[in-house]
Amino acid sequence: MLNSARCTRKLLAASPICTVEECDCGTVHLSVGALTLRLEPDALRELQGVLATAQANMRDSSSHRPAANN
Ligand SMILES: [Zn+2]
Repeated sequence: MLNSARCTRKLLAASPICTVEECDCGTVHLSVGALTLRLEPDALRELQGVLATAQANMRDSSSHRPAANN
């Protein structure tokens, strides 16, 4: 249902770049800047895994090197 105005949300976690709230309808609201994603709890778990994998696969983020052939 899209009655988000009637839903009550509980803050689960917050950081300077994003917040995660749990809605009483079971949806998890992930807000990043102006963007809010409404996710099922299972989708949030999957997203967490995908983000962890992406981070693990990133090159050393401390040296911002463009992909170049050496
Ligand atoms: Zn809701």
